[in-house]
Amino acid sequence: MKLTRNARLILEKRYLRKENGVPVETPEEMFMRVARAVAFAEKKLNPNLSEDKLEEYIERFYTLMTSLDFLPNSPTLMNAGRELGQLSACFVLPVEDSMEAIFTALKDAALIHKSGGGTGFSFSRLRPKNSPVRSTGGIASGPVSFMKVFNAATEAIKQGGTRRGANMGILRVDHPDILEFIRCKEDNNELTNFNISVALTKEFMEALARDDYYELKFGGKVYQKLKAREVFDEIVSHAWANGEPGIIFLDRLNEGNPTPELGEIEATNPCGEQPLLPYEACNLGSINLSHMVEDGRILWDKLADTVYWSVRFLDNVIEVNQFPIEKITEMVRGNRKIGLGVMGWADMLFKLKVPYDSEEAVDLGYKLMSFIQKEAVKASESLAEERGSFPNIEKSIYRGKKRRNATCTTIAPTGTISMIAGTTSGIEPVFALAYTKNVLDGTSLTEVNPVFEEYVRSNFSPKEAEQIIARVAITGNVRDIAEIPPEVKRVFVTALEIAPEWHIRMQAAFQRATDNAVSKTVNFPPTATKEDVRRVFELAYELGCKGVTVYRSGSRESQVYVTGTQS
Ligand code: UDP
Repeated sequence: MKLTRNARLILEKRYLRKENGVPVETPEEMFMRVARAVAFAEKKLNPNLSEDKLEEYIERFYTLMTSLDFLPNSPTLMNAGRELGQLSACFVLPVEDSMEAIFTALKDAALIHKSGGGTGFSFSRLRPKNSPVRSTGGIASGPVSFMKVFNAATEAIKQGGTRRGANMGILRVDHPDILEFIRCKEDNNELTNFNISVALTKEFMEALARDDYYELKFGGKVYQKLKAREVFDEIVSHAWANGEPGIIFLDRLNEGNPTPELGEIEATNPCGEQPLLPYEACNLGSINLSHMVEDGRILWDKLADTVYWSVRFLDNVIEVNQFPIEKITEMVRGNRKIGLGVMGWADMLFKLKVPYDSEEAVDLGYKLMSFIQKEAVKASESLAEERGSFPNIEKSIYRGKKRRNATCTTIAPTGTISMIAGTTSGIEPVFALAYTKNVLDGTSLTEVNPVFEEYVRSNFSPKEAEQIIARVAITGNVRDIAEIPPEVKRVFVTALEIAPEWHIRMQAAFQRATDNAVSKTVNFPPTATKEDVRRVFELAYELGCKGVTVYRSGSRESQVYVTGTQS
């Protein structure tokens, strides 16, 4: 297998099966373990399947992954064919307004985190701070105080789990505690295991457009009226200050809800790409787009074939998935949501020589994702012929049709699996074309984007290439590299050089062809203003995005990515 050094390190650290802390399987054996577990669904669904045919499926799935053309989300790689057997990355749990229900949700979240899943919650049903508590005569402490309890629990269990537990906390903009919520992550050291998002309602967006007041209410009672503009300003200035809160457009999430009869969507998973009903889970997988291009052309046939096998793979995952909570098993089996997405979009654009911030790239993004969406639905329909539609189909918007999965597509962040695949994450532009990182033993290692490296090595002498890469590793970009011609500089554009509008336009293009939502961070340079953030929020609404996350470089003390030289 062609794995980068980095990919091997990640696999060894977190994914390979270990005994006494030592890996007892190779990456190839890991992929075989996963292929076998996933192919087992073929046998489960068709007991007459011959051994030869089963071996064929195993081989298919093995090649699908070891070619790095497709990878499932991390929990599938970590847990398939093992005791935990929990294969999904995304969950939403309900939080009802009683002590018992709150702590049930907390326990359920702990069990999910242990297996590498992330949990999203809406805290909107919790009564506001200072409301009476009938049974004790005391007063309620409100959603934010309970979020702190969830945060502390996540903190305590994170050492034992397969990876750091992640949470999404959501509050409706019309909840009486909304201002406290917007401010709850002002201090970067608070609620560190949570991303937070304000759920904006249509009513609120309309009040905002009219520059009017809107009502904060709970349990049928109006608590207060606030100027929509003032609350929006508060969200904008906090997002500008350190990236939190994000926003989601609640009514739009529900317009995309395939099973409205089964309930309302009130939350998403931690990174925002997966709106789900309470107790629903979704397993994701992503196609490596950098493998779908050759000699400057998109390999449409290979892409169609890869979509088919990826959908079959993800549908099989549902069949063999083991959840720690019975209600989740029921919901997942009923709707059979899967989320096929992409990674390596920026690498694909590099190979096609199309700048990320161009009309051409936005049009191509839409065309490409529409193709994937169409092929994924086709695959889901053919699986329905073979295996039956998802059980709740008659309670869904697909009533009278055939479809195996209530949703087929999601654009995940692919934070780790893109590193395993050695490509750029999701639909994000690259952050730095090269950077130097210090490794533990005191030496430093320069990481270079492989497509950029290929360009430099084939256009310059070995000595010149080394020098160029060393210079790029300082700033992360090619802006000041005189040897590189302007049209090439235009192609190798990096995240902070791309105007925020283009980030949103790209997100919107992919959203238009995606069932679920799109994970995307709009990166701003340190000099961006609050007005810039506001414009992006408004543009996202105008263009049909389901939510927005922004991040202004340097605005958090410790940040994950750093352009150029890292310390
Ligand atoms: N996730 C999580 N903890 C993490 C990273 C991710 O719970 O440390 C969950 C979360 O729901 C997120 C989803 O996994 O939205 C997908 O994230 P990503 O695509 O980055 O995961 P990968 O499969 O690449 O590890």
